[in-house]
Amino acid sequence: MKRIAVTGGKGGTGKSTVATALAFELNKKHKVLLVDADADCPNDHLLLGIERKKIETVFQRIPKWDYNKCIGCGKCAKACNYNAIAMINKKPFFMPKQCNGCGACVYSCPVNAISWSKKETGVLFNGKKHNITLLSGELKTTEPFTELITNALNKKIEKMKKKHEFVIVDTAAGIHCNVINALEKADLVFAVTEPTPLGAHDLELILNVLEKLELDSKIVLNRAGIGKSSLIESIAEKYKKEIIARIPYSKKIMESYSKGIPVTHKSIEKIAGLFQ
Ligand code: SF4
Ligand code: SF4
Repeated sequence: MKRIAVTGGKGGTGKSTVATALAFELNKKHKVLLVDADADCPNDHLLLGIERKKIETVFQRIPKWDYNKCIGCGKCAKACNYNAIAMINKKPFFMPKQCNGCGACVYSCPVNAISWSKKETGVLFNGKKHNITLLSGELKTTEPFTELITNALNKKIEKMKKKHEFVIVDTAAGIHCNVINALEKADLVFAVTEPTPLGAHDLELILNVLEKLELDSKIVLNRAGIGKSSLIESIAEKYKKEIIARIPYSKKIMESYSKGIPVTHKSIEKIAGLFQ
């Protein structure tokens, strides 16, 4: 099994277009697990026209208080680095939206007045089309911790990877914890960018992170031809990274995108050719 990650420093660079197109190309000869780890806004199912079914609810542990035991010492509020507990009239007042379930409050209470409860934080879905199995994670609206979803996806990948020759992980944009989680264990990462100053800036950020994580990577230049390719070429040279493919900005590609049909183009065949 090969694990491939498709990422991009900024949103809207065409990460999902590349991930779904690559999954479609590889699925012609191989069994592919496509993982949509962009939990704030998963859209691979739309791009591939796959109907998703809920398979799992993702929970986050949160503390709960027994006020009969509480002696109002305030140690739990002091222990919380996330300002999720405020002492009001010597009683802890809990703000669950700010809690990440670290447990510091539970362990700091001298009278064991705090135990564990849980709240729903998101959902995992799956779906299938041709040789592609889709695994998709979605954070519940109003919940802040996307990394809980990427952790749940990683656990599912571990269980499902044996049945697939390729696992393609479409990460969220940016370089937050959830992206780092999704990049975990990748054999190769494709950093998707576009030839604009913002694209170049964010590409450099992501290449820096990939270098620190010691992950092998290649650049995919999307919308080639609309801006200055030299911006990306100089970064590729600086980081000694190959621009493996240049996807043109074309009407045909935009039409595929808008109709939910995977993009087919010789640039995508070239990427897939790395694994044939
Ligand atoms: S579990 Fe951690 S973040 Fe949540 S309230 Fe307790 S100390 Fe704060
Ligand atoms: S640490 Fe325990 S006893 Fe102290 S305020 Fe918090 S819940 Fe109450």
